[in-house]
Amino acid sequence: MISKIISEELIHKTEKLINTSDKISIVVHSGPDGDAMGSALGLWHYLMTIEKEPVVIVPDELPWFLKWMPGTECVLVFNESQELSEKFLNNSDLIFTLDFNTLSRVGNMEKALKETKAKKILIDHHLHPNNFAAVTISYPEISSTSELIFRLICRMGDFAKINLGGAEAILTGMMTDTGAFTYNSNNPEIYNIVSELVKIGVDKDEIYRKIYCTSNESRMRLTGFALYEKMKVYPEFKAALITLSAEELQRFEYRTGDTEGLVNMPLQIENVIFSVFLREEPERIKVSLRSIGTFPANKVASDVFNGGGHLNAAGGESYTTLEEAIAKFEKCLPDYKDFL
Ligand code: 5GP
Ligand code: MN
Repeated sequence: MISKIISEELIHKTEKLINTSDKISIVVHSGPDGDAMGSALGLWHYLMTIEKEPVVIVPDELPWFLKWMPGTECVLVFNESQELSEKFLNNSDLIFTLDFNTLSRVGNMEKALKETKAKKILIDHHLHPNNFAAVTISYPEISSTSELIFRLICRMGDFAKINLGGAEAILTGMMTDTGAFTYNSNNPEIYNIVSELVKIGVDKDEIYRKIYCTSNESRMRLTGFALYEKMKVYPEFKAALITLSAEELQRFEYRTGDTEGLVNMPLQIENVIFSVFLREEPERIKVSLRSIGTFPANKVASDVFNGGGHLNAAGGESYTTLEEAIAKFEKCLPDYKDFL
């Protein structure tokens, strides 16, 4: 049995808006990850089966290890097709905003999202959703937005309309936001849902391989380089830092997605409970933060790096040089000693 998490009122409001809308868009946060794409494509496949023909618009490029997902060929990338994306957003009656809690998370797409007259339905699992949607489906205790999409479709009475592509997408999101069911994954109902998805025909092992066990030579060497040459451990703060400059990334023929998972690795070191990765991008330093236990990665993200996220997995950015971002990180460590 899967319990009713989403309130009856929200289900009815969502159903009504879907039924009364002709032009539907689905948007996710910038740097789309497995859960962003999983929830978007899970919902996209469902809306296709009920003949709504929605369009998925993502702010920027998806990582290479998600490009196998059925439906990605129809996804619009805002930064690559800005005019067309704006046209869709302007003309939409309804926009689903998935896997983010504040409009500032959509990067360059923020202005277009603010200006459109379309009604919005937010579906998300981050704390403190902003109040920009007609319907806000926010359940931070649920480990992925993709799981919420599954629950929503079922509660609308349409479990039978989840096709294989949709089921694969939903499982991808549930898997990636729990580190392949290694954290945030102790709710037994997760496995009831996985069971339903496998019954639909999803090959769970194959999806795991496509996401976690696919690489190429330059990526593998980049990982080796980062761990050997670019990781610094701060034993007195139980912390570790990895940094990669733009030049270093270029040297290893970096593609979007190549550093996925890198930030988690130092947490395997005994006595490291806080790991940060700084990656130099053309216009900013992207910051990823991970922790174990009660150490609040999201607090450091919001206090120091204009970001936020979950207790154990958070992100942010720094509009400084890489050196300055490193200095900011090192300077802040003593402030969090009480959490160790
Ligand atoms: P990642 O390090 O994989 O990019 O992000 C991990 C988590 O941190 C995401 O699931 C999201 O919850 C949060 N996050 C990532 N980047 C940002 C950001 O720039 N701002 C905020 N508020 N949260 C972020
Ligand atoms: Mn998520």
